[in-house]
Amino acid sequence: MISVEEALNTLFALVNPLEVEIVPLREAAGRVLAHPVTAQRDQPPFPASSMDGYAISDSDYVTGRTLQVIGEATAGTRFEGTVDQGQAVRIFTGAPVPEGATWVVVQEDVDATKDQITIRETSESNPYIRPAGTDFKTGKTLEAPQILTPQLIALLASMNISKVSVTRHPDVALISTGTELVMPGESPGPDQIIASNTFGLKAMLEAIGARVRVLPIAHDTIPALTTAIKLAKGSDLIITIGGASVGDHDLVGDVAETLGMERAFYKVAMRPGKPLMAGKLGNAAMIGLPGNPVSAMVCGVVFVQPVIRAMLGLGKTPLPHAKARIAQDLPENGPRAHYMRARIEDGQVTAFERQDSALLTVLAQANALLLRPPHDPALQTGAEVAFVPL
Ligand code: AMP
Ligand code: MG
Repeated sequence: MISVEEALNTLFALVNPLEVEIVPLREAAGRVLAHPVTAQRDQPPFPASSMDGYAISDSDYVTGRTLQVIGEATAGTRFEGTVDQGQAVRIFTGAPVPEGATWVVVQEDVDATKDQITIRETSESNPYIRPAGTDFKTGKTLEAPQILTPQLIALLASMNISKVSVTRHPDVALISTGTELVMPGESPGPDQIIASNTFGLKAMLEAIGARVRVLPIAHDTIPALTTAIKLAKGSDLIITIGGASVGDHDLVGDVAETLGMERAFYKVAMRPGKPLMAGKLGNAAMIGLPGNPVSAMVCGVVFVQPVIRAMLGLGKTPLPHAKARIAQDLPENGPRAHYMRARIEDGQVTAFERQDSALLTVLAQANALLLRPPHDPALQTGAEVAFVPL
């Protein structure tokens, strides 16, 4: 049995960042920016008014002073002339501030007639002018790789970037194995259950940028598994669920090896999830997840998500751990890393009493995996532990 760290490093050695493709900005949300992007313009490109009011010289910002209104500047159409002392230009938010003007007096602070204003109030210290390039200047660079959030999409649009280079989506094939399984919505026989973690994993991996193909369930026979694994061809990552233990009906490893899989490891010192298998099948990486629903989902978090991130070019690193204090005493941990289903509330973490790896109801309530390293000594309430947020 190897450690979680060794297993993850071995998995990282099986994958590389995928190719880069160019997509329209409007389709780029959530994708991983592959190359840095540099602004080719200033924003705003001119000094802009940030209020509706009158553009004047700051030396005219004097209570009671009357100024001649000589024109108008609107968003999109500048006033072509110059504002001299004693003059004002009607101006609106987003409009270029005319030559000579150094102050915008807000319209609420003046008494206006058709072509004159009198400044009634001079309590503002803000000139309400955004200098050219206040937001960003030509040359401002967005670093890569990084995930394109809605905020970054808005910033790229503002830079006049209409297409971006992103890492292509990893294609993942998911194969559920087990004669006892049927798809949700089907009518299970008396000895059958519903394939569940398949759908949980699809949701988990698509949320971080994978494209997941759910293949038909493979029964526990050599021909059925052979067909399923062949159907997965062309994917970047083949994930099997179940059939990876040592029972008579656990055939996934053998069938995959017959089809040419080079096994990288089998069995990891962790709970849940010990019977985890990995290898390389042609150009694809292959991960054999344990079938127990919670084991499959926990291994999805601990191993598959970092592998997908590595394929997306986001680096080969484990998911970040956070720290919290425990709200209960915990017994000494055994020789395997334990990823306990837990809840963080008010900064304190509590592990659920029932840690059976078949309990999806417990996993569904959990918002963290509390991490106990191998041979962690008994801990008292208030001790600090690491956890992975869910
Ligand atoms: P296995 O790893 O095939 O021995 O499966 C371990 C346990 O997980 C068994 O109780 C299976 O019925 C169950 N199981 C396997 N695959 C799935 C799946 N896709 N969804 C739900 N349960 C599963
Ligand atoms: Mg099985």
